[in-house]
Amino acid sequence: MIGWVLFNEKDLMLRFTMSTSGVVEKTPYSLGGAITDFTAVSPQISEKLFSILGKKFVTDVSGRIDTPTMGAYVPFLRKALESNPYLFIYLKFYAECLILSCNNKSAIRDVLEDFLCSEIADEFLPTMLLTNDAEEIASWLGKVICKDMEFRRNRTKHQIEDIVSPDSSLAKYTPAQRLYIIKCESGSGLNRSFNMQMASEYDFERSANLGTVKASLIDNASGILAEFEINNPDDLLALELFHTVKGELPIKKCRCCGEYFVPSGRSDSEYCSRISLGENKRCAQIGAMRTFKGKYAENPIYAEYNRAYKRNHSRLRNGKLYDEEFRDWSAAARKARDEFIAENKTVEQFKLRLTELEID
Ligand SMILES: [Zn+2]
Repeated sequence: MIGWVLFNEKDLMLRFTMSTSGVVEKTPYSLGGAITDFTAVSPQISEKLFSILGKKFVTDVSGRIDTPTMGAYVPFLRKALESNPYLFIYLKFYAECLILSCNNKSAIRDVLEDFLCSEIADEFLPTMLLTNDAEEIASWLGKVICKDMEFRRNRTKHQIEDIVSPDSSLAKYTPAQRLYIIKCESGSGLNRSFNMQMASEYDFERSANLGTVKASLIDNASGILAEFEINNPDDLLALELFHTVKGELPIKKCRCCGEYFVPSGRSDSEYCSRISLGENKRCAQIGAMRTFKGKYAENPIYAEYNRAYKRNHSRLRNGKLYDEEFRDWSAAARKARDEFIAENKTVEQFKLRLTELEID
């Protein structure tokens, strides 16, 4: 079992044990944010993360006599955990398989069969080749598990598209009805049965006695929520999608990167807050700049400035203005342009100002 998940209105909380120490980790994510962030992970990034983990394993195995344990991968996994629960589940599973390949190779097939989608299992398991070469094993497992992640990521993205897009073939249904129809399609991964139990938002030790529970609930204003077992990535995908759609959280398509997102602040925002591959700014920042430039360029003062700039630049080229004169003029004209736009002045007022600045 991977762990448990609890849902309240705006968050999901993942609970699981990281290693054999039995310590329960608790991580909250924004509901709908976790699943849309997962669909936005680029294949380059996920391949890179799998490769880092695989290489670490190969180095660990070749450099020591005892077999590596999960503890060796906890710092790496914790970073994945901070960024996305799905990415974390996949990388943790990869680490577990790598460790199994050292101490219980024959168990790997069953573990993979339980975890992978049938499409990926059918394609790769018949030719499974587990040699004694750590590098070969790490590379084969990494390839298969990463493919599975890509498969589920794409499937989920298409499902979200069908649920929210106005062009969807299911457009005449409500989002929740669309989700239900998709669930009924074969191979959707959403047709899972769940083990649910009541749980307190405050995370008691699983073995806590009744006295402790009663005493703690007086001190902690803890909600009582439904808690579900997660045995497979599909469990979490299905549950989060269901709760997001059922809770009518807005799922939007970013106007910059085209990926889906659930706005964390204003629900009318058109841009996500991720930094897409190859960019150094968040989509929201790029979007804000675009909106500004768009509004700016529509302003007649801006057009008037451009006309004057072209005129004086050609005077400069024809030797009718000195370099310095042009530089001073353009600085003053630009400053006036920005001020007049900011102060909502008319284009006539700006033209007068340009006449004052004009060099004879
Ligand atoms: Zn974006």
